[in-house]
Amino acid sequence: RNNAEKFEFQAEVSRLMDIIINSLYSNKDIFLRELISNASDALDKIRFLSLTDKEVLGEGDTSKLEIQIKLDKEKKILSLRDRGIGMTKEDLIKNLGTIAKSGTSAFVEKMQSSGDLNLIGQFGVGFYSVYLVADYVEVISKHNDDKQYVWESKADGAFAISEDTWNEPLGRGTEIRLHLRDEAQEYLEESKLKELVKKYSEFINFPIYIWASKEVDVEVPADEDESSDEEETSDNSSSEGEDEDAEKTIWLRSPKEVTDEEYTKFYHSLAKDFSDEKPLAWSHFTAEGDVEFKAVLFVPPKAPQDLYESYYNTNKANLKLYVRRVFISEEFDELLPKYLSFLKGLVDSDTLPLNVSREMLQAHNSLKTIKKKLIRKALDMIRKIAEEDPDESSGKDDKEVENSVDDDEKKGQYTKFWNEFGKSIKLGIIEDATNRNRLAKLLRFESTKSDGKLTSLDQYISRMKSGQKDIFYITGSSKEQLEKSPFLERLKKKNYEVIFFTDPVDEYLMQYLMDYEGKQFQNVSKEGLKIGKEKNKELKESFKELTKWWKNALASDNVDEVKISNRLDNTPCVVVTSKYGWSANMERIMQSQTL
Ligand code: ADP
Ligand code: MG
Repeated sequence: RNNAEKFEFQAEVSRLMDIIINSLYSNKDIFLRELISNASDALDKIRFLSLTDKEVLGEGDTSKLEIQIKLDKEKKILSLRDRGIGMTKEDLIKNLGTIAKSGTSAFVEKMQSSGDLNLIGQFGVGFYSVYLVADYVEVISKHNDDKQYVWESKADGAFAISEDTWNEPLGRGTEIRLHLRDEAQEYLEESKLKELVKKYSEFINFPIYIWASKEVDVEVPADEDESSDEEETSDNSSSEGEDEDAEKTIWLRSPKEVTDEEYTKFYHSLAKDFSDEKPLAWSHFTAEGDVEFKAVLFVPPKAPQDLYESYYNTNKANLKLYVRRVFISEEFDELLPKYLSFLKGLVDSDTLPLNVSREMLQAHNSLKTIKKKLIRKALDMIRKIAEEDPDESSGKDDKEVENSVDDDEKKGQYTKFWNEFGKSIKLGIIEDATNRNRLAKLLRFESTKSDGKLTSLDQYISRMKSGQKDIFYITGSSKEQLEKSPFLERLKKKNYEVIFFTDPVDEYLMQYLMDYEGKQFQNVSKEGLKIGKEKNKELKESFKELTKWWKNALASDNVDEVKISNRLDNTPCVVVTSKYGWSANMERIMQSQTL
């Protein structure tokens, strides 16, 4: 085409496309899931804009929020069209040529090594899965702010964009034409398509129509009498009382009526996590009072790779916000604090106004109340994973229906949670003063008495010796290294328990976690350690000359003090950090900048 402009894919995109093309991954069906999901996202976007400006929808067919799928056996083309927001030329270049998300290379790597393309949607590169079944793809798109363009690529490292002067005008939206590979002709079978659409439209709130055209000449726009071929596979969400709607909007139902399987499927669709794993926990509730809303929260089975990457600089919002059943946004980071951004879920509020801009909504007072309640519910949900886990002996027995995973499946779930998201709990203790104590209850660690297992502060306290006032801990780079520490000699001998904190974040954590249940924390490598009663008054006197000489010998810049201490057993002397100084471990961390 003479007006085509050529572009090269970003290197990672090219690599990803190679992986997809050469993939032996057997479930090629997923491309349809990704395309339907993109169409639905695009429709959500235009619907949201139409709340404040009806004009954006346009007139006639253009205003219909729907998805159409067409099969052309002759030309071996499968096409999917939506009347969503569409893409400008700039959007096409950016969205279908580069990967915006951070950690790009890491997940390209991961997809290559695991061969599991089910993760593709989660990584924000779902579109490229079209090359599982097609060797040539055209994307025709019309955005309200631009002309109609065609994006095309044979996955050969380059794509082209041309102003569209030959296709039927779309009005608004996007049509994706897949020129199917010879071995992917099954996707032109009506029955196969119907089955797939049914499977993948479970939580899609727009109607999807399949057209199995028998016309040879596809350039003729589909006219009215072809509508006998039309198949309605899904109903519009705005019609009331339909059973199908109830399935799609499970958050509106009573938790008692929703099965585990339905929650799991809903989670998969919401999180674009098609790994087949169950979420670790969920909480489905209705909040009443000044601010009314319904919400479903999920703890994913696994943490995404980039969870803590540029933690403070990126928006990691993961909740979908609905107002009166209309999808508004999934980018509201006002709904949950950063440390809980690993949760997935949905909030639907009747209290928030529907016809205001995003900015006004974002500043709405009710959001604060919603956030507060969501945090409470989230922490309850996490606490229950621990309580229901037979491996955790601190179980209490307030059973609720919210989390209903089978009993033996609950075994070891909290350790699993901790391994995936423990760092988030620690960051929570640092960030959220209001909920610090609740979060501290969720903390797990190893100690001199935990026997290689994880233990909690409550369990530590229950094992404290009579007369022991403080909670003892030590920080370092590994448990193995800490176990040999001279700081532990005396404490071990006297049978005191000492917590091992070995994560770099722990040093920061302990600057915020001062006490728990009325007990102070004492770093055993710092000044001020008191083990039982101190009886060293006479010793102090008799060694006075020595300590004095020693301090002078070391020069006063190097040490603050030289003291008699009872913290050691075999080791003759040890260097201790002053109460408010950095521990040796903290020095090490600051030097290596591990956080
Ligand atoms: P994701 O959907 O996770 O963002 P994709 O690879 O599926 O990742 O799509 C990349 C981007 O391309 C989308 O974010 C969107 O901006 C754009 N896009 C894809 N399909 C459509 C469509 N049908 N209409 C409008 N924009 C689309
Ligand atoms: Mg997508």
